[in-house]
Amino acid sequence: MIFSEKHELVRKLARDFAEKELTKEVLDQIEETGEYPKELLAKMGKAGFFGIKTPVKYGGQGSDYLSYVIVLEELGRASAVTDIWVSAPNSLGGGPLMLAGTPEQLEKYLPPIARGEKIMAFGLTEPNAGSDAGGTTTTAVQDGDYWILNGRKTFITTAPVADWCIIYAKTDRTQKGSKGISAFIVDMKLPGVSCGKAEHKMGLIGCPTSDIILEDVRVHKDDMLGEEGKGFSNAMKTLDIGRIGVAAMAIGVAQGALDESVRYAKERKQFGKRLADFQEISFMIADMATKLQAAKELVYRAAQLKDANSPEAGPAASMAKYYATEICNEIAAKAVQIHGGYGYIREYKVERIYRDCRVFTIFEGTSQVQKMVIAGSLLK
Ligand SMILES: Cc1cc2nc3c(=O)[nH]c(=O)nc-3n(C[C@H](O)[C@H](O)[C@H](O)COP(=O)(O)OP(=O)(O)OC[C@H]3O[C@@H](n4cnc5c(N)ncnc54)[C@H](O)[C@@H]3O)c2cc1C
Repeated sequence: MIFSEKHELVRKLARDFAEKELTKEVLDQIEETGEYPKELLAKMGKAGFFGIKTPVKYGGQGSDYLSYVIVLEELGRASAVTDIWVSAPNSLGGGPLMLAGTPEQLEKYLPPIARGEKIMAFGLTEPNAGSDAGGTTTTAVQDGDYWILNGRKTFITTAPVADWCIIYAKTDRTQKGSKGISAFIVDMKLPGVSCGKAEHKMGLIGCPTSDIILEDVRVHKDDMLGEEGKGFSNAMKTLDIGRIGVAAMAIGVAQGALDESVRYAKERKQFGKRLADFQEISFMIADMATKLQAAKELVYRAAQLKDANSPEAGPAASMAKYYATEICNEIAAKAVQIHGGYGYIREYKVERIYRDCRVFTIFEGTSQVQKMVIAGSLLK
């Protein structure tokens, strides 16, 4: 795809930021400590990365999806966990609000999220309701002006450090499946809200994930998000959009793996030759580059369809997420192979890439779920 001058400028801004700030020293320190530096988050907020799609009147950049994709791609090329910090406010945190928030809710919540001063998490998954998110068993029972929430959400990105979380709960237990679910904006400091232990994850070190436990949490009726009973649709529409973000991370991270492979293949010598001079290695790189380019086109197309409000945007986002995340894993695995034993050692970037991208085919809808969406759009 050929980009406009505006989008090339967005790419340059994000690339310059990544080259200056996401250095090997900083990324190694994140891996060692498990902490993402607060100063770096502040710089990302200043650069406008937390409100790329948020309207200007709510403190964001008011940009399009293609710009969002480009920023994630360029930052992800250097660091996957940085992409998680950027996508969280733009997608799963800000997304449900932008879809269904009242003017008062938008005014109250969006500006601090877009500036990076506050964190909004997204609480849909439960221990027994993952791909089958409609199987939510968290309940909300009305009591005067309040709703009383009880239940447990699991694997919630940023939960331990979040200020608020959007919680999806069953408000009408007479309704079966995904019906009768409503969304609530829950203040994480409310009595009865607690977090489980931060999970020890395979990758994406530096962005905590934990359960959220809700025990008789009293949420004011003004903090219901959207109409009663329309929560599941809000969550699904949020994920429809969010998938473009995960796909964008995947092409960025895969580009990082390809960059490292090309560099290493030209440097490393065995049998008196560069690895690049072995046909087996050079063809592996050709294969990686071709699949990556195909994935990029799918991701840019999904973003453009979303920008055009096309009804094809949903399945296009699923195709982009499915293909880009699968080939990202394939490219990361090949990158480790090209690095030989060194690829298995922490010192080398491809080792982190390999661990970081493993979850891309799992969260925000597994590859199997994406295929269900794509097939469903064709066979309905
Ligand atoms: C690091 C991380 C961060 C996350 N962040 C969040 C977050 O912020 N908020 C949130 O709400 N959730 C979050 N999640 C949860 C994530 O979205 C779920 O893990 C994911 O949706 C899959 O659910 P599950 O883990 O219960 O797997 P399951 O649904 O149990 O699936 C297990 C396997 O069965 C397959 N499967 C399931 N159903 C079918 C079917 N009908 N047909 C074919 N195959 C099927 C799946 O594809 C998968 O391969 C996060 C998860 C992780 C690991």
